Amino acid sequence: MRIRSLAIRNMTVQFGQLTAVDDVDLDIGSGEVVALLGPSGCGKSTLLRAVAGLEPQAEGAILWGDEDLTKMPVHKRGIGLVFQDGQLFPHRDVAGNIKFGLRMHKISDPRRVDELLDLVGLTGYQKRRVTQLSGGEQQRVALARALAPRPRLLLLDEPLSALDRALREQLALDLARLLRRAGTSALVVTHDHDEAFTLADRVALMRKGKIVQTGTAEQVWRHPVDEATAIFLGCGTIMRADIRNGTARFDLGEVRIPWAPDGRHQIGLRPNALVADPNGPLHGEVSGRVHRRDHVRLLVKLEHREVDAVAGIADAPEPGQPVTLRLDPDGLAVLGDHPGKGE
Ligand code: ATP
Repeated sequence: MRIRSLAIRNMTVQFGQLTAVDDVDLDIGSGEVVALLGPSGCGKSTLLRAVAGLEPQAEGAILWGDEDLTKMPVHKRGIGLVFQDGQLFPHRDVAGNIKFGLRMHKISDPRRVDELLDLVGLTGYQKRRVTQLSGGEQQRVALARALAPRPRLLLLDEPLSALDRALREQLALDLARLLRRAGTSALVVTHDHDEAFTLADRVALMRKGKIVQTGTAEQVWRHPVDEATAIFLGCGTIMRADIRNGTARFDLGEVRIPWAPDGRHQIGLRPNALVADPNGPLHGEVSGRVHRRDHVRLLVKLEHREVDAVAGIADAPEPGQPVTLRLDPDGLAVLGDHPGKGE
């Protein structure tokens, strides 16, 4: 267990009748990266802004160790901010943007700009105009600017969502590495599962202003706490199952899930829980077909229900054709709070 650095306590933000953040408690460990993940409008950005000190309506406490930051002005909190669109100063060059962050904190260290550019992979970019940089490069500069004064906490609000998909994936990996190397505690807002799981040591799932679950990627992926969370995390079908000694038995058959707890549980099936396979035991007919990047998503009519399934691109059947499916444990989740199981 990491040493706790940031503690958010009883945080509530009310906009008129709307409770955007509802009595949230959250801890972030020293050097830990936590992702706030949830659907649009669930209050992620408002919570982040409250931690930064940018929401005057916020009620609750923000502590750093024994220090109470709640009433401290934004610029004294030791926090670095990175937003979706970088918000760089267009009339300054790259070095000028990074120096601005340093000057704000009265730091004059001539080597710091070079250090930061090395860290974000933009060595030699000092004199480049920020308007001539790609979106990905601009976000790296924004990150360098935020990290330059050595903040104790970095807050990132959808830092990659303005970028196209391929770049986003690459930059998410780079950013994950970079945050580890910088060793700064960080809270990242995102609505993208892959991004959250790539970046964060721990994910906090938010819904309607509340944090409904926190855990590692593996914990929340395998054990979404309730039905709404399971659906948000991609489970299109939810069924009852009997699980005994790592084998789940339910309406669609039997499958080994060694990490699953014994008992009668709800299980969630992601599309890849059912895979097209000529030797599969489940017979159905394809009713829908969507080509994805590296597989085909199928909608399949079984005897009593319609389910999502996946097939390889080369051999995916067409709508109207028969298909046989097998169960794949990789696509299954067991709903409920099952701490420690399978870790
Ligand atoms: P998204 O992923 O779409 O950015 P979010 O989870 O970050 O969403 P917030 O931006 O925190 O959500 O907004 C939470 C709720 O609070 C929304 O219903 C939003 O309309 C409302 N809200 C946010 N800021 C204000 C404000 N300044 N005044 C009134 N309502 C606001």
